[in-house]
Amino acid sequence: MIMVLITQTDIVMQDDTLFSLAGRRALVTGASRGIGLTLARGLGRYGAKIVLNGRHPEPLEVARAMLEREGVDAAIAPFDVTDQDAVIAGVEKIEGECGPIDILINNAGIQRRAPLDQFSRADWDALIATNLNAVFFVGQAVARHMLPRGRGKIVNICSVQSELARPGIAPYTATKGAVKNLTKGMATDWARHGLQINGLAPGYFKTEMNEKLVADQAFTQWLCQRTPAGRWGNVEELVGAAVFLSSDASSFVNGHVLMVDGGITASV
Ligand code: NDP
Repeated sequence: MIMVLITQTDIVMQDDTLFSLAGRRALVTGASRGIGLTLARGLGRYGAKIVLNGRHPEPLEVARAMLEREGVDAAIAPFDVTDQDAVIAGVEKIEGECGPIDILINNAGIQRRAPLDQFSRADWDALIATNLNAVFFVGQAVARHMLPRGRGKIVNICSVQSELARPGIAPYTATKGAVKNLTKGMATDWARHGLQINGLAPGYFKTEMNEKLVADQAFTQWLCQRTPAGRWGNVEELVGAAVFLSSDASSFVNGHVLMVDGGITASV
């Protein structure tokens, strides 16, 4: 009983530091552009030191230079998240050269569109490899360092498609549904050891992944009518949720998937 009271006293925090990420290091996968780059910049604004991942060094160098101009301590870690050996080596290198990873934003992802009866095996395999296997590979590699330290935050980027299906993207929907449940599983296994694993599920945002949808007037019309907020999301609107899930503000949140979707999954 006394232990419980002491533990609860220990976790009382100062309001002014609740959302601060000062001194924390965040690895963001798929941070060469789009949502990953926006979240990296956003976490940086809240004080985090950033490690940017993607497959190719050149765009990561451009991103790193941009963050440094904004006063953010940033490094790059180019590796392919679908290659488990490369992931393990990449995470070891970051831990050795930059220091402990306190926050992982498991964001790298791809999209493939085709009618389901014509969907190719190659596209199916690519989606599973990037959107699902990689979340496990990077999550496990990072957690192996976090577990002995007894703390760490993992945010898996899910999707509105973790909840809803749309024509032509059933395999993507399958991967994002699986990431939602993998998030719950990671939390179930690792929360007892001090880790927090949550999901952030974006609705529809104008990134390279959605180029074709953005160009399609009929889609925008459908989206604005279907979404209670009546519009596309702005990628900056994902930052608040990512900071919350990465900071002490979410200290008792675990295995939760936070929808940032203008209400689309809340309404029929
Ligand atoms: P983008 O296509 O704009 O960016 C994808 C990022 O992932 C790039 O930085 C790319 O870098 C990286 N990436 C892809 N494959 C790999 C790989 N094998 N190894 C390392 N990095 C890789 O996509 P978004 O920013 O739109 O999407 C980011 C995440 O958000 C994805 O998980 C996506 O499913 C999810 N999401 C997006 C939504 C949206 O509306 N845009 C909605 C819901 C979820 P590079 O090519 O340089 O390697």
